[in-house]
Amino acid sequence: MNIVVCTKQVPDSAATLKVDEQSNVSWGDAPLVINPWDEYAIEEAIRLKEKFGGKVTVLSVGPEQVKEALKQAVAMGCEEAVLIWDPAFDGSDALGITHILAQAIQKIGAVDLVLFGKQAIDGDSGLVPAGVARRLGWPLMSYVARIDELSAPQISVTRALEQGRQSVTSRLPAVITVVKEINEPRYPSFMNIRKASKLPIPVWDAAGTGVDVGKVGRANAAAQWIKVFAPPARTGNVELINGDSPQAIAAALADKLMADKVI
Ligand SMILES: Cc1cc2nc3c(=O)[nH]c(=O)nc-3n(C[C@H](O)[C@H](O)[C@H](O)COP(=O)(O)OP(=O)(O)OC[C@H]3O[C@@H](n4cnc5c(N)ncnc54)[C@H](O)[C@@H]3O)c2cc1C
Repeated sequence: MNIVVCTKQVPDSAATLKVDEQSNVSWGDAPLVINPWDEYAIEEAIRLKEKFGGKVTVLSVGPEQVKEALKQAVAMGCEEAVLIWDPAFDGSDALGITHILAQAIQKIGAVDLVLFGKQAIDGDSGLVPAGVARRLGWPLMSYVARIDELSAPQISVTRALEQGRQSVTSRLPAVITVVKEINEPRYPSFMNIRKASKLPIPVWDAAGTGVDVGKVGRANAAAQWIKVFAPPARTGNVELINGDSPQAIAAALADKLMADKVI
């Protein structure tokens, strides 16, 4: 199995988003981490490799600092890592990112499966995996909670939907996004941390990946973020209900809701 997993470096979710009066978004000094949803994709990719053989390559589009996220993925068990970056990529929208990733996946060649987390916790669009699948012309299975069977050239998965579960069979190569129900990500092993610290991480630029610079970067972003702002603080009365026990508090709350005709 030739598996690719894509990851984005994001600010730690505990950090506070700062927005100034000109709508400039900043994460301040927030520590940067692997997008938490991607840890499940990385874990699943490694499990598939351990079961079926082959290798896992982790990819990320981003500046030099993103190498830290890639090293973390290698420390979990990915064999290879590639950073894809060129100053021309700066300010790309999701459409631009999908072009860059699809080009890199084609450059790797003979890829069987591409895994993603279901979304990034900062951009939150969930667009990238579908865009990559579309550009590659491969099927996409989103919200995968279990890989039931993998027997090339076929894969069967269970998707977690709000209404229930859906079993899907598809041909390979394919793209999947995973939900956290799929596994429990492992901690990096000491051996792999050492390996990651020594592994050279190549940087593929626009020319090296065949990226059309007319499709990426701020100037070519189809979607522009016009304004980013923190929601206004809530106003209104807040009444705290106290009581001697959870039962007494629940009873007082129920009385209050009935008196206000909420229930
Ligand atoms: C300051 C700032 C300004 C921005 N301005 C704009 C703008 O004007 N217009 C606009 O459309 N977008 C803008 N973006 C968003 C940015 O382009 C998105 O981060 C990008 O499009 C990816 O989308 P997403 O974060 O919603 O990822 P999702 O689609 O939610 O992520 C899904 C999966 O794709 C993976 N993935 C996402 N990005 C990458 C990557 N770079 N490398 C590898 N895997 C990846 C995730 O890790 C996850 O597994 C801005 C972002 C920032 C921080």
